[in-house]
Amino acid sequence: MIICRLIIFVSVLLFSWQPAFAQSSETGIVGQVLPHLPKIYQDNFVDLRSDIAIPSPSLITTKIKDAYRFDQSMQNLNSKSLDEPIIVGLYSKNILNKGGGNTSGKNIYVANIQPFLNYVNGIEDRGFGWFVTAHELEHLIMNRMNAPVAKVPVYLFEGIACSLGYRFAINMPEGYYCIHSIAVRLGDYSYKDAQSSLNNLRHVEDYAPAKQAGLMWQHEHIGGLFFEFLIARIYRSPDAMFHAWGKVIEDLGNNVNFEVSFKNRFGMTLEQTEIAFLDYIRVTENNPNARFQGTVFQGHK
Ligand SMILES: [Zn+2]
Repeated sequence: MIICRLIIFVSVLLFSWQPAFAQSSETGIVGQVLPHLPKIYQDNFVDLRSDIAIPSPSLITTKIKDAYRFDQSMQNLNSKSLDEPIIVGLYSKNILNKGGGNTSGKNIYVANIQPFLNYVNGIEDRGFGWFVTAHELEHLIMNRMNAPVAKVPVYLFEGIACSLGYRFAINMPEGYYCIHSIAVRLGDYSYKDAQSSLNNLRHVEDYAPAKQAGLMWQHEHIGGLFFEFLIARIYRSPDAMFHAWGKVIEDLGNNVNFEVSFKNRFGMTLEQTEIAFLDYIRVTENNPNARFQGTVFQGHK
């Protein structure tokens, strides 16, 4: 009887432990993938799930935590909500785009497992997996700070995630290759391309057509270059720029209007800044050396 009660008790515990997403609320890639991923490891911050065994899961969770804390500290953000544990799902079947990842809400990041296996096995993946991880975790951070994509021009929501992703990846062994291959493409964009990215990835409803047109890569990396432009040409310091953006995130969390906060924290209206950015793209057409001067891409073309 006691054993029977114990079994019931344990099964109730196990059952009630199942997170909410298992019941359905998640949609898209996360909803398709996460319910199939058993928990394989947990530390004080990362609840790690995967459909296959991972050697040295603690190495992976430590590095994921590094990426998260990198984003947080670059923006000088301190909030209790940022200390809540996150769920990371690593999936062996390549249903996300090559090397891709995806987030949901405030807690969940899912990604293809291969770059993480490469990492623990000492196989060089050239930094792309870590670019994606720092990128996606920035989305979680903004969601946790009550500064979700709906409050921000979308190319900036993606752009800040790209800029932090570049700066995390470049510190990885051979992360150089990730940055270099992105630079090769960013060096080629024209004034018209940049103008199209600022105009066509602005509102949440722009995501679907941008994906359909195959332009997401361009739009979000033009957004990344926008932040690199602010660092190189306006602030002349990564710390000052990222801290200013951190203040914008805090303002959004306090329900300050985005354009008001941007003007307060950056000293120019968004419109003035966009004009200056587009002018910078125009005068550096066909001159990647000049375009990348002072950015994370300096020396790459
Ligand atoms: Zn993103």
